[in-house]
Amino acid sequence: TDALTAGYIAHEDEHLAHNYHPLPVVVARAEGSWVTDVEGRRYLDLLSAYSAVNFGHLHPAITAALTEQLSRVALTSRAFHNDQLGAFAAALAELCGKDLVLPMNTGAEAVETGIKVARAWAYRVKGVPAGAAEIIVAHDNFHGRTTTIVGFSTDESARDGFGPFTPGFVGVPYGDAAAIDAAIGENTAAVLIEPIQGEAGVILPPEGYLRAVREICTRRGVLFIADEIQSGLGRVGTTFACDREDVVPDVYLLGKALGGGILPVSAVVADRDVLGVIRPGEHGSTFGGNPLAAAVGLRVVEMLASGEFQQRALALGEHLRARLDDLIGHGVVAVRSAGLWAGIDIDPVVGTGREIAERLLARGVLVKDTHGQTIRIAPPLVVRATELDWAIEQLKVVLAG
Ligand code: PLP
Repeated sequence: TDALTAGYIAHEDEHLAHNYHPLPVVVARAEGSWVTDVEGRRYLDLLSAYSAVNFGHLHPAITAALTEQLSRVALTSRAFHNDQLGAFAAALAELCGKDLVLPMNTGAEAVETGIKVARAWAYRVKGVPAGAAEIIVAHDNFHGRTTTIVGFSTDESARDGFGPFTPGFVGVPYGDAAAIDAAIGENTAAVLIEPIQGEAGVILPPEGYLRAVREICTRRGVLFIADEIQSGLGRVGTTFACDREDVVPDVYLLGKALGGGILPVSAVVADRDVLGVIRPGEHGSTFGGNPLAAAVGLRVVEMLASGEFQQRALALGEHLRARLDDLIGHGVVAVRSAGLWAGIDIDPVVGTGREIAERLLARGVLVKDTHGQTIRIAPPLVVRATELDWAIEQLKVVLAG
């Protein structure tokens, strides 16, 4: 590593809790699909901040909405109304085909909010006895890092040392609809799943799974909550990953790209008969629904409404997939993908996921490993086909050793 880079990293090491293991690159600037480090080197960003930067870094339409709103008012709290929130909520509700929006900031907050809504719905609408509501979740899930959420993780490194945990969650294997049906009891409030499991390594459920979950939830009278925080908002070639099976969940959990890669903006979106159970004073957030976030979120929703980004994700996703499939047997063991989102299992003979990520970094490509042997690719949806081809060339070189 170069001197400047080493200095910044040492500074962070001294004063930051070590809850991450970042690749050794110090980013100073970014635009579109490219970032520049403190040494002046450029990198193609194939991670997009875990899909928060779906529209590319500093998309001009999004920064315009931000700066325009910054000249007026940024934060009001919800003690008062602001002139941006209604338009954002209306547009987002329409994008989702739902009635109501509950705005929060981070993904984990949206998940926590969804859990509260499901429990309140179970007690107040379904008639579940007080304190008995259960939520069915999937093994290998990733929904965030708060204590309640890690409590129903199956990843020991997420849980170990952080208990005791919130009761009321039942785990079943991902992709097994019959297991959900069998786990539902009279106190079940909801089924909470990722339509595609992101952190687990871009794990696609078997064809028909989401449709089956929808049918089971309707038949058994439980809410279907789709965590589309990473999979939603254009990434997989459709607005939501649930759209791939023409499925509409009862509750959408959204985050990441909703903030346009600029601000933390998340939301729970559902119909009035579900989200309407929350009463004044029962839930909130100082920053949730602030006018700056609402202006940015509205612009994001407007950009998604045209379908242009979904189309790009679909077309470029096919392009990427064809080239990744060519690598199978040449350092790659398996490829899974949906739209412009791929999990690539690296042959242990050529290195770990981390080693491949480090070698790609040295060649100007940013990716992140997950679960040892997998690297994940989620380029900005504005990336060019020629840029993807160049990145694949770098991957080929790296895999060849
Ligand atoms: N849910 C899913 C599916 C995610 O992928 C993530 C983040 O990776 C979260 C929730 C948590 O979001 P945040 O990191 O903004 O709390």
